[in-house]
Amino acid sequence: MKHTGSCHCGDVHYEVEADIKDVIACNCSICSKKGYLLSFVPEANFTLIKGADAISDYQFGAHRIHHTFCQKCGVASFSRGAMPDGTKMIALNVRCIDAIDIAALAVNPFDGKSL
Ligand SMILES: [Zn+2]
Repeated sequence: MKHTGSCHCGDVHYEVEADIKDVIACNCSICSKKGYLLSFVPEANFTLIKGADAISDYQFGAHRIHHTFCQKCGVASFSRGAMPDGTKMIALNVRCIDAIDIAALAVNPFDGKSL
């Protein structure tokens, strides 16, 4: 199914092909502070329509994941990373997907803190 997502001010806007039935709530240092609810898709399913130059990229630790956020409103609507096999992935912040009923999605805890 095709979804759109955006930051709060609208400077960052994307389109994504994704089947979002559940979300991951990770307890690692950044996910817990950001309050992300995540769903992962291959990068090929993701199109950044607007905002390539509106995004800042926060990295920490092993610098494996690009935690992007809008420079104007601060909302982090997606991150870029890769699977262990190198496949590029997008972590959608499902809270930023338009017209989705967050309360209807199953939330799966993930113990990222222990990794
Ligand atoms: Zn914004």
